[in-house]
Amino acid sequence: MKAILSLDQGTTSTRAIVFDTFGNIIASHAVEHTQHYPAENYVEHNAEDIWQNALTVCKKALAEAQAKGYTAQTMGITNQRETCVAWAKDTGLPLAPALVWQDKRTADLCTDLNAAYGASVKEKTGLPIDAYFSATKMAWLMENNKAVKQAQALNNLCIGTIDSYLIYRLTSGSVYATDATNASRTLLFNIQNMTWDSELCECFKVPKALLPIVKNNIDDFGKTDEALCGFSLPIQGVCGDQQSATIGQACFEAGTAKSTYGTGNFLMMNIGKNPKPAPEGLLTTVLYKTADTTMYAYEGSSMVCGSSIQWLRDKLKLISSAIETERLAKAAKQNDGVYVVPGFVGLGAPYWKAGTKGHIVGLTLDTTKEDLIRATLDGLCYQTLDLLNAMDTPLKELRIDGGMASNDWFCQRLSDITHIKTVRPKVTETTALGAAYLAAIGAGLIPDFQTVSKQWQISKTFTPTLENDTRETMILGWKRAIQNCIEL
Ligand code: ADP
Repeated sequence: MKAILSLDQGTTSTRAIVFDTFGNIIASHAVEHTQHYPAENYVEHNAEDIWQNALTVCKKALAEAQAKGYTAQTMGITNQRETCVAWAKDTGLPLAPALVWQDKRTADLCTDLNAAYGASVKEKTGLPIDAYFSATKMAWLMENNKAVKQAQALNNLCIGTIDSYLIYRLTSGSVYATDATNASRTLLFNIQNMTWDSELCECFKVPKALLPIVKNNIDDFGKTDEALCGFSLPIQGVCGDQQSATIGQACFEAGTAKSTYGTGNFLMMNIGKNPKPAPEGLLTTVLYKTADTTMYAYEGSSMVCGSSIQWLRDKLKLISSAIETERLAKAAKQNDGVYVVPGFVGLGAPYWKAGTKGHIVGLTLDTTKEDLIRATLDGLCYQTLDLLNAMDTPLKELRIDGGMASNDWFCQRLSDITHIKTVRPKVTETTALGAAYLAAIGAGLIPDFQTVSKQWQISKTFTPTLENDTRETMILGWKRAIQNCIEL
C-alpha cells in the first residue's frame, strides 16, 4: 500500500510519521534533542544531532510502516522556522551550533536596525525587525564564528533554515534549496515579488549569493541518497511548521484559521492572495506557494501556552500531570474574578510587551488550587480572544490542535470565551500531516487541496454556551488584569 513519509523537525524533538494517502497515521517515531543555553539570551541546537535524529526516526518509521504493508512513495519535510544553520558546502557538516528562533543575542542590533529600516522592512517582508527571525542570526554567525568566516572566505559556506540544511544532507549536497514559507521568515525575502531582496540582504549583511534557491511548497527538492540514508525517496513537499499545520487543518479558504496549543500558541489565518499589511501586533506571512497560487496568512503567537501548564506542574506542584487540569478546572468556581495573565516571559502578540511579568489577580481567602488552575487555562483562552480581535476578521470556526487540544474542558472554555465554534480534527498531528499532503500532491498520490479538505475530519466540535452578560463581565475583568500587568 502506498504511503508518505513526513519529517517534522521541531524545537524540542524530531518526529517522522508515515501516513497513508487518506491522512491516517501508520507509523511514528520521535527523538528529543538537547536545548543548549550557553549564555544569557543564547539558545542553540546541535545541528549534527538534529541530522542524526532525523535519519533515525525516518528509518524507524519507514521500517514500522513496511512491516504493516505500507511503502512510502514520497517525502515531505516540515520544520521549526527561523532557526538557522551554517554548514560546509563540501561535507555538509555543520560549522557552528544552530541558532534557535528563541535566541535573542542579536536583540540590540535589531533595535538599532528597527529605528532606521523598520517600516520599509515590514512593507517588504510582513515582519518587524526582531531577533526571532533568521537574518541577524545569519549575520552574527558570519561575523563571530571562526569556522563560518573561514568557510565563507573559501567559498565553502552554506547558510539557511533547518529545512534547507536537512534537504542538503538528505540529498548528499546535490540540492541547496528552501521553500517560500521558510524563506518568508528570514527578513530577507520579499513577500510581494517572492524573491530574495537585494536591499534587505544588504541591510542585514547577508550576501544574497550565499542563500539557497527558493522553491514552491510542492516542488522537486531532489531525492534522498540511498547510500547515505538507507532509503531513496523524492522530497516533494517542504513547509515551515505553522504553515504546514494550517495546511494539515485544511484552511485553504480566506477567513479560515487554526490555532495550535503546544508549548507556545500560534494562531494562523488564511487571508487569501493579497499580502495585505497585518494589523498592529500581528505578522503577514506566506501561507503557501504552488505553481499557480500564492496564499498569505496573518499570524499571531503568544509565547506561553502549555508551558504555563508545566509551571503549574513543576513549579507550583499543583498537579502531577497536564491531564489533571481538565478534572480540576471543571471542579473550580467558573467566574470568580481570579485571573492568571501568562506574561511569564513577557507578552507576545498582540501586546508585544517584552518586559512584563506574569500576574495573578483577584485572589481571596476562598480561592482554591482548582480556581488557580482554571484561571491559568482561562488566561490562554483570553490570549486567543485578543489575537482574534486583533485579526478583526469574523471566523466561522477555529480549528485547534497541539497537546492542549486534547483537554475537552479547555476546548469548551475556548469556545465560550472567544464565542466561536472550536473544532478538533481526528488527526491532531497536523504539522506533519500538512507536509505529507504537500508531498502527496507532488507525487500525484492525491490530486489537490480539495481532496485534503474532503479528508479532513472532525473529532469533536465545541460550541459557545456562556450567557452574554457573564461573558462580558469575565472579559472586562481580563481587560483590567492585562492592563495591570502591562502597566506594572
Ligand atoms: P510541542 O509540540 O510544543 O512540544 P505539544 O503540542 O506536544 O507541544 O503540547 C505539549 C504541551 O501541552 C505541554 O506544555 C503540556 O503541558 C500541554 N498539555 C498536554 N496535554 C494537556 C492537557 N490534557 N491539558 C492541558 N495541557 C496539556
